[in-house]
Amino acid sequence: MPKLPIKTVRARQILDSRGVPTVEVLAQTSKGSGVFGVPGGISTGQSEAWELRDGGTKFWGLGVLKAVANVNDILAKKIKGMDVYAQKRIDQALCELDGTENKSRLGANAILGISGAVCKAAAAAKQVPVYKYVAMLHKSRKLRLPQPSVLVIEGGAHGDTNLDIQEFMLLPQGSSVREKLEIAAEIFQTLRKILKLHRLDTDLGFEGGFAPSWESNQQVFALIWEAIKQTGHKVQLAIDAAASEFYNRHERQYVLKADHTSLSAERLVSLYNQWIGQYPLVLIEDGLAEEDWDGWRSMQQRLGDKIILVGDDLFTTQKSRLKKGVEAGVANAIIIKPNQVGTVSETLETVALAQKHNYKVAAKHRSGETNDDFIADFAVGIGADYLMAGSVARGERVAKWNRLLAIEEELS
Ligand code: PGA
Repeated sequence: MPKLPIKTVRARQILDSRGVPTVEVLAQTSKGSGVFGVPGGISTGQSEAWELRDGGTKFWGLGVLKAVANVNDILAKKIKGMDVYAQKRIDQALCELDGTENKSRLGANAILGISGAVCKAAAAAKQVPVYKYVAMLHKSRKLRLPQPSVLVIEGGAHGDTNLDIQEFMLLPQGSSVREKLEIAAEIFQTLRKILKLHRLDTDLGFEGGFAPSWESNQQVFALIWEAIKQTGHKVQLAIDAAASEFYNRHERQYVLKADHTSLSAERLVSLYNQWIGQYPLVLIEDGLAEEDWDGWRSMQQRLGDKIILVGDDLFTTQKSRLKKGVEAGVANAIIIKPNQVGTVSETLETVALAQKHNYKVAAKHRSGETNDDFIADFAVGIGADYLMAGSVARGERVAKWNRLLAIEEELS
């Protein structure tokens, strides 16, 4: 590929879907440009790359003007003139300039902004869709559309309710993404009516799922199941427990407010097992807390042959943590969120390690999103097994699903 120098790298502060500032970066070459909006999380893993925030009083300290200045005044100087197709070298240069383990000097939000914008600019310059360019970077043998995992009910850190489990998702069974999203949308709308009948709130949480308070976790499953039965569609279920958020570290107990109970890891896994028996629950993300490695090991032994156990906070898209997981025989799938590690190249390395060890790969959005639909392209480019992009409501979530629909059409 003939070299193509990067002409401009420029960042600014924009707002994400929660009204929280985030970084947007534009990278330009003479043949094409890319804009990348950095997503941000709220139920973050402890070992995630560092999101640089301004502190102080403006935006409650959440501004990103320091990260923006780091792009414009420091990082851009190094990147300008580099070959836009040299993604790995560019990402390495960004990491070296930062010089810390977790990108805390210049900010992972500043670094990922550039890394993502460069990736998109390179695709534009090559006149290929972003998913194809990602596939080239990843040396994917064939492009694959991921199974959509569509959020319908949310709680945890994403809604002001008593629900501890953060996400209840649908895995619609169909022959195309189009059909699967149609199924998800029909169940979502049916569920709205059922919630109303039960006098439950139909307001939406951060990621577009309904977020009422509940009598129990069992009630959530029961009503989702009722909606599925009413539509007659074939669907499997997934949950993101985000268990780090309801783990009492001192007492080593999982506190389930909705069920008015506290459970040991073993008893929580028994509860999961009960749900697996009652409903077609085939995937559990972050079923236990990120530091509860003993619990994870025994969960793997008890449930690992039956269902997909995904590590999110557990692995934070970091190669070193995934390696530890592989060695310890923990989980059989990984969540991939580029902002947890901070560059496109490092994200691809983690994906490659996961795929080498036959871990399933789920590409996922964050609770704070922009309308950037990069993650849909990324999921296809890496051959992800799943895409988790929220519910079928809220523009920044639907942007990803609609992008996946467009990719499906292109690929057929
Ligand atoms: P977060 O949520 O982006 O708020 O950390 C995590 C998730 O949706 O898995």
